[in-house]
Amino acid sequence: MTIQQTHQSTRRAHQTHEAPQTHDPRPPVRWAARAACRDADPALFFPFTWDDHPSRSGDQARAQRICRTCPVQPACLAWALRTGEPDGIWGGTTPDERRRIRARLRQATA
Ligand code: SF4
Repeated sequence: MTIQQTHQSTRRAHQTHEAPQTHDPRPPVRWAARAACRDADPALFFPFTWDDHPSRSGDQARAQRICRTCPVQPACLAWALRTGEPDGIWGGTTPDERRRIRARLRQATA
């Protein structure tokens, strides 16, 4: 699977909250039906798009505003942290923010 196919699969997964079809299949996410982003453009949520189209840098903030209204934000963030989701906005966080959260969690449990 190419990087582009992986991103396309991840975008679809974000839209449908099904398991991305990557080398590391993930379990279905059952909270998807209540996600605030279920009808949003998945391109808002992915850095692949931001990198290709810097003029769309406001997309990250737009995605995070959607997340702030989302009733399943805690479950979404927990899933992204548990699976090590490397791309996109999940649970209102960027990939860098999730890396920092995971580092703090590792320190707290060390
Ligand atoms: S927290 Fe954000 S990314 Fe997660 S389901 Fe809700 S709106 Fe979508």
